[in-house]
Amino acid sequence: MPTVVRRYTFRLYPNKSQMSKLFEARRLHCYLYNAAISQRKTDYQYFSKSVTYLQQQNALPAFKECWPEYKELNSQTLQATLKRVDLSYNRFIKGLSQKPKFKSIRNYSGWTYPGYSGWNALTQGKHGQVRLRDLGITIRMRGQAKQWGTPTTLTIIYKPYLNQWFASFTVNVEVPNRKFGSDSDLKYESILSIDLGTETALTAYNGQEFLEIENQRFTREAEKKIKSASKKLRRKRCPNYKEKIKASQRWKKARKQVSLLQRKVAEQRKNWQHHVTTDISRRYDIVVTEKLETKKMTRKAKPGSKRKRQKAGLNKSILDVGFGTLNKMITYKVEAKGGLALFLPTRKIKPSQRCPKCGTVHKDWADLSNRYHVCRNCNFENGRDKSSVMVMYNVACQKQPGLGTRLESKTCSCGGNLRELPCSIVDLISSTSKTGKHTGSMKQLGEMKRQKSQQHKKSLGHLETPTSQKLG
Ligand SMILES: [Zn+2]
Repeated sequence: MPTVVRRYTFRLYPNKSQMSKLFEARRLHCYLYNAAISQRKTDYQYFSKSVTYLQQQNALPAFKECWPEYKELNSQTLQATLKRVDLSYNRFIKGLSQKPKFKSIRNYSGWTYPGYSGWNALTQGKHGQVRLRDLGITIRMRGQAKQWGTPTTLTIIYKPYLNQWFASFTVNVEVPNRKFGSDSDLKYESILSIDLGTETALTAYNGQEFLEIENQRFTREAEKKIKSASKKLRRKRCPNYKEKIKASQRWKKARKQVSLLQRKVAEQRKNWQHHVTTDISRRYDIVVTEKLETKKMTRKAKPGSKRKRQKAGLNKSILDVGFGTLNKMITYKVEAKGGLALFLPTRKIKPSQRCPKCGTVHKDWADLSNRYHVCRNCNFENGRDKSSVMVMYNVACQKQPGLGTRLESKTCSCGGNLRELPCSIVDLISSTSKTGKHTGSMKQLGEMKRQKSQQHKKSLGHLETPTSQKLG
């Protein structure tokens, strides 16, 4: 059975002495983080040298001699904290984010156990305890995982606004094999195509009927309340740490009110998403949808644009539906039962511009205000969202006119057997769905190290042979 990685988060319930140990560890990790940034900064500024992760990692033992309180902490967690610095610098160098800054303890979330050492999860997926061996504490935790497996990493998180601690595990979970293949019993009825939109949050098509779900607009309903609450917040005395002004009690209270409201909206949205995606993944084996780029879609309007307010409204609607999260949820839920989620490359397929019946591409259909489509070629007419889900459904079944030949040429060993056809689409998708933004994880780092040491050995071997020949 193939395994996939899942993340599950449990809430921790530490007692007083455990809490103080957790806070102490968090403080130490925060100082280490800042020290690592400081070293990189000064070395670059004064000696124009750039420090690598490995240099910092190798300096850890000496660092511990100077600061003996770090000896108690698990050394892998310290490495993981240094890795956080490295990742944020890599992101900065690649132009993906701002220059890393020192973090105040207020904004420092926690630390990670990147491997098996230093901790145990005493749970079978529901409630239980977590043991942090380096701190010598066992903390009660509550939470539930849908499917449990082998936990591989642990991240301890503190949320200052809530004053709550969390344990976030990555777990290797076994999922059933994909259903297709030679003895597949997959039928057409179990394919569903989905289009996410703003008017109707979700339009789906299963070959016979359409399913439409209205946008709930959580943000807008709660917006008035949030606005008035944040206005109250602005009128209280806020903290200014540089000028040593403390926050007033009323400010703290008001801030809690705002964050509670925001949290409520988030929970509502999440609940709705889970309902929708669970329902879909129970009933269908293959889910087809467009590949989205939410980040680009929800970009702010350009400065000076006349349609600033409209764009802001559209962004809100997109984020209300939660396009990205919905897709992720559908994917893991469908895969958990052995199904497949397909993400079609929008530019190749053009679902919103293509006529589902004859395959003609109409460029004017791309205009978002055009809600109803009539084909000039075959007089087919339908709503914008409906016709685009029909196109996606047809693509998944390989019967979309105008695209069929191109897809057929990609068909793999199943020889155009319609029942097994997803393989050909899998090829198409897998070639497009990978996005390269990796900046080097702990795992990759380990592989790099291994390669390096092998190369080193090889080069030593090369050096040795010629000299021995000469000697001979
Ligand atoms: Zn047509």
